[in-house]
Amino acid sequence: MHEMSLCENILGILLDEAASQNFSKVDRVCLEVGPLSGVEPEALRFGFDVVTRGSLADGAQLDIFEPEATATCAACGATAVIQDRFDPCPSCGSHVLQVKTGEELRIKELEVS
Ligand SMILES: [Zn+2]
Repeated sequence: MHEMSLCENILGILLDEAASQNFSKVDRVCLEVGPLSGVEPEALRFGFDVVTRGSLADGAQLDIFEPEATATCAACGATAVIQDRFDPCPSCGSHVLQVKTGEELRIKELEVS
């Protein structure tokens, strides 16, 4: 499950931030997880709990923000909200869509003390 290694990466970022910004506890982490990022939010929650146990982020609240995925059609230029990167353009049916948003996977907010 690659969510587990993602959580380890996130914890690594938190530790780096803690060292450079001088905090010792993470109270809340807000992640932005795009629907096209290939990450399962529930698996991420589980992994986060396991990986942060005993760390500075032990017991931190994890909020997952899931933005909409949008794409621009290369054929007709329309921009549409899509559920999947292989969705056809809702205006003209073309499958040549340029994904604009929805692949995000990043820490959006951090509350520390
Ligand atoms: Zn189109």
